[in-house]
Amino acid sequence: MITSCIFCKIVSKEANATIVYSDEQVTAFRDIHPVAPTHILIVPNRHLESVSSLEVEDEPLMGHIFTVAGKLANEEGIAQGGYRIISNTGVNGGQTVFHLHVHLIGGQRMKYPMG
Ligand code: 5GP
Ligand code: ZN
Repeated sequence: MITSCIFCKIVSKEANATIVYSDEQVTAFRDIHPVAPTHILIVPNRHLESVSSLEVEDEPLMGHIFTVAGKLANEEGIAQGGYRIISNTGVNGGQTVFHLHVHLIGGQRMKYPMG
């Protein structure tokens, strides 16, 4: 745990968030500034800075994050209409919280193209 990291604090329940799912590997909670009707962040419980910090051993963890994202999309009722999964990485990627996270965004037609 990184004591200054807001997502570590949410995982450890030192900071409040609307948690929609958690298990021994990941925590999912609603984004404080949603950009769509459903906007959930899925984070590893262990502090990892970004996709660039991943090692081969983290492959099951990342697979699990995507499985959880798909299940949450079903629960939120956005799976049929479709949704977007994003992991902003680094400054040019638009990352503002440096604890790896996947955005699950849906409930409206996404804007395209990206970038
Ligand atoms: P990034 O810009 O790093 O891809 O995404 C960070 C996301 O975290 C943003 O969408 C932002 O609204 C969200 N966020 C930042 N601080 C908090 C917080 O304290 N609680 C929650 N629930 N979301 C946060
Ligand atoms: Zn962290």
